[in-house]
Amino acid sequence: MADIIQLLPDHVANQIAAGEVVQRPASVVKELLENAIDAGADAIKLIIKDGGKALIQVVDNGVGMSATDARLSFERHATSKIKSADDLFCLHTKGFRGEALASIAAIAHVELLTRTATDEIGVQLKVEGSKISSQEPTVTPKGTSFCVKNLFFNIPARRNFLKSNQVEFRHITDEFHRVALAHPDIQFHFYNNGSEIFHLPKSNYRQRIVNVFGAKTNEKLVPVEEETQVVKISGFISKPEFSKKSRGEQFFFVNNRFIKSPYLHHAVVSAFEGLIKSENHPGYFLYLDVDPASIDINIHPTKTEIKFDDEHTVYALLRSAIKHALGQFNVVPALDFEA
Ligand code: ADP
Ligand code: MG
Repeated sequence: MADIIQLLPDHVANQIAAGEVVQRPASVVKELLENAIDAGADAIKLIIKDGGKALIQVVDNGVGMSATDARLSFERHATSKIKSADDLFCLHTKGFRGEALASIAAIAHVELLTRTATDEIGVQLKVEGSKISSQEPTVTPKGTSFCVKNLFFNIPARRNFLKSNQVEFRHITDEFHRVALAHPDIQFHFYNNGSEIFHLPKSNYRQRIVNVFGAKTNEKLVPVEEETQVVKISGFISKPEFSKKSRGEQFFFVNNRFIKSPYLHHAVVSAFEGLIKSENHPGYFLYLDVDPASIDINIHPTKTEIKFDDEHTVYALLRSAIKHALGQFNVVPALDFEA
């Protein structure tokens, strides 16, 4: 029988990988914001139109790229962030897979403007469906701007699957919250259909939470602090009387990366036991710092799940830190106990 296996062309491989990385406009927002942070930016602007379907733009004042790097950045497995598999266990960047830009460029129209501090002139690149369609020298501020238009232009099934502008906008806002809460030392602007949604000045964790969720949040926050060899825990829980029927604000960050963890969530909920009604949900903004060698982030392309070496210890420490915080601040139970 004749041989039948062939290697897929790059643009097809990119489109397949994109299926995992880019689920909706919010995924593009997440990847571009994370790249801006990795580039060392301290001011980042997010501009979207029509729930990100018409436009997603992220402008940063980070290190920028040379013309050669700008071209290479759209290749799959092209990254400046790791050099070997060992580097996965001492990660100090959000990115490392080198596939976000390749994926986005495979399924959208992308325009990149970038300039490094040492280059006098920057570069403008246009990429459509994995192909670079133009490259021009251009005058542009130091840093990088990515413009993503016509998301899923070549995958009608995906495009049709997108929800209303309002729903996509909500997903984008959720991503924006996660990134902004993890990085209070960065200034953020967020514009939707031409109006400013957020202007977040540089600040500290507490002030950033208040700037994102409103002035009333301040009185709700109880600080949590714990430092051990395994983990440093900081952040805030909301007072039990502010627990809500809806899930509301629940955030875990590990090494400044937003993560989802049903297991750690359980640790928090169990610390609140007896203080809130069982059908209510506590609010929390918890920042865990651990040795990068003690976690594995490379579990899923979106990196919102991680694996701890010592999950049980982290659980126990988190639970006790929260119990301690609740006790120290003389938190009164929000419900009357029936004897
Ligand atoms: P990863 O972030 O995993 O390295 P990406 O596909 O997101 O992969 O980006 C590829 C490379 O492009 C990055 O490693 C980085 O060198 C460069 N890059 C992407 N975005 C920016 C940016 N905003 N500023 C400077 N360089 C960037
Ligand atoms: Mg990236």
